[in-house]
Amino acid sequence: MRLFEAIIDANHRAVAGDASAGLHPADFADELPVIALTCVDPRLNALFPNALALPAEEFIWLRNAGNIITGPLSSTMRSLALACAVKGGREIAIIGHTDCQVCKTTAMQLLDKLKDLGVERHLLPDNLNEFFGLFSSERQNVIKACDIVRHSPLIGPKIPVHGFLVDIETGKLEWIVNGYEAWQTLPAASDAIKGAGPMTEALGSFTAFNIGEMKFPETKIGEAVAKAEGWLTEQVGQLKMKPVSTPPAQPLPAAPAVPPKIPLPPPIRPRIVPTRGRR
Ligand SMILES: [Zn+2]
Repeated sequence: MRLFEAIIDANHRAVAGDASAGLHPADFADELPVIALTCVDPRLNALFPNALALPAEEFIWLRNAGNIITGPLSSTMRSLALACAVKGGREIAIIGHTDCQVCKTTAMQLLDKLKDLGVERHLLPDNLNEFFGLFSSERQNVIKACDIVRHSPLIGPKIPVHGFLVDIETGKLEWIVNGYEAWQTLPAASDAIKGAGPMTEALGSFTAFNIGEMKFPETKIGEAVAKAEGWLTEQVGQLKMKPVSTPPAQPLPAAPAVPPKIPLPPPIRPRIVPTRGRR
C-alpha cells in the first residue's frame, strides 16, 4: 500500500469513528515528507496535518488564497519546486476544501471589495478572473492545479502529484487526482491551462532558455531567480494579452444567517515512533 492509499484509508476510518485509525510513518519513509498546498482559510488550521495522519515534521505546508496555481512558473510553483529540491518533499498534494470563499467570489464582487479597500480599478489588470485565478468549482480548481504542476518543467516525473477535496466540516478527504496513476490531461483542464495566462504562454520561450548561459558562478538561488525573473518579465511583456474565454464565476449565494460551527479535527493521530535518525 502506498502512502496516500494508507492516508485515505486512515482518514475515512477515523471520520467513520474508528479511534484506532492512524498511520505508521516509518512504513513510508521513502514517500515522506509530503508537500501540501491548501487554501488560507483559517478553518483548515485545526484540520492539518491531523486529517492526513501525518506528524508535523513530515508535513510541508504551503498556502495561498484558494490553493490556486496560476501558471507552471508561478511563485507558488517555484516554492513547490524548492520544497522538493531543498526540503526533500517526495509527494505533492493539492488540497482544496468545501465552502471555499474564493470560489464563491465573482470578479465583480472582488472588484467592489478591493474598491472598498482603496484599490484603484485602473491599476488592476483588465481580466481579474485570469489574474487572480478565480474559479467557480473547487473540484475543477484542484484538477487544473494538478495538471499545471504535473506539466511544470520545475517538477520532475519522480514526484507524484495528487489532488484532494477536504470537507471543512468533517475533515474527510476525497481523492480527486491519483498521482500514482499515469496522468492524462483532461480536455477541460487543458483549456484551463491554456487560459492560465501569459506565464503559460512564455513557457515555450522558457524551455529554450539555457540558464547555464547566464554565467553567474556561485550565484545563490534567490539571485538567479531574480535575474531569470527579469528576463521572464521581459518576455512576458512582449506577449500580447489574448482574449480570455474563462466562464463567468457563479453568483454568490445568500450568506447563511448563522455562521457555521467550528469543526473539531477528526480523531486521527499519527502513531509516533522513536526517532529514526533519518534527519
Ligand atoms: Zn478557501
